[in-house]
Amino acid sequence: MTDAKPRTVRAPEILWRAAEILEILSETPRVKSLWLRVPSWPGHRPGQHVDVRLTAEDGYQAERSYSLASAPETALPGREVIELTIERLGEGEVSPYLTEEVRAGDRIELRGPIGGYFTWTVADGGPLVLVAGGTGIVPLMSMLRHRAQRRSNVPAWLLYSSRDFDDIIYREELDRLAAADDRLSVVHTLTRGAPAEWSSFERRIDPEMLASVAPRPEMRPLCYVCGPTEMVESVSNALVDLGHDPERVKTERFGPSGD
Ligand SMILES: Cc1cc2nc3c(=O)[nH]c(=O)nc-3n(C[C@H](O)[C@H](O)[C@H](O)COP(=O)(O)OP(=O)(O)OC[C@H]3O[C@@H](n4cnc5c(N)ncnc54)[C@H](O)[C@@H]3O)c2cc1C
Repeated sequence: MTDAKPRTVRAPEILWRAAEILEILSETPRVKSLWLRVPSWPGHRPGQHVDVRLTAEDGYQAERSYSLASAPETALPGREVIELTIERLGEGEVSPYLTEEVRAGDRIELRGPIGGYFTWTVADGGPLVLVAGGTGIVPLMSMLRHRAQRRSNVPAWLLYSSRDFDDIIYREELDRLAAADDRLSVVHTLTRGAPAEWSSFERRIDPEMLASVAPRPEMRPLCYVCGPTEMVESVSNALVDLGHDPERVKTERFGPSGD
């Protein structure tokens, strides 16, 4: 099993850029998507992230990483637009500002794209197994949007863990993508209770769930696991225990458990 951190690539030409917020969309009660115009955006690979830097009036600066949610195809020359999707953490320093304070027309500083390892493009092939917890869906959504834009027929499975039904990010878009593509399977699990009519899983991701959702290890899928640290550890260990090739299990940890 391999981790994104040691091999993160930061190209020397990565500069801080002033990005203009074009639109802010509410995804769930605690999650917003920011559409940003980034002058001279060089393009990205699905799975990469940017660093966002905020500067207070007294010069104090805070930096955090946010994954690119949009497909690379959205950021064509002359239309240098990217999407970030950010969850507000109650005690957080940066995420409350980005989800509650900023307005369309504001500018924020960012640099990127960053990361050369936790990435996938259609050229990498598959099958593809994506496992997300909470906002861990963000880089995986970039992969699925790219796959759809390119009309790829690489078989793909997404297993996505959220707390409640209302916390499922991109729920309607995921439904649409799966309905339009019989080579894409989207399976949800809810960890803190489900609506009465819910017919999918209602617990944390465990080995049995992974075995029933993901293709057999003999199919040698490429696996991408992203979310809170604890969830990423347990899922990636379970995939390897089930027989998946550790070299084909890639992980990205967003931080402490969100559960
Ligand atoms: C490569 C990478 C990509 C990321 N992409 C995204 C993304 O697309 N969307 C997104 O919302 N976040 C993403 N994150 C997490 C993000 O960088 C911040 O850690 C998060 O927004 C919290 O920042 P904050 O300043 O609000 O909280 P902080 O002030 O840093 O922390 C406040 C409290 O929250 C806890 N905490 C910190 N981070 C997390 C977390 N991720 N989950 C739960 N608790 C946490 C801290 O332990 C602390 O108790 C990513 C992280 C990495 C490393």
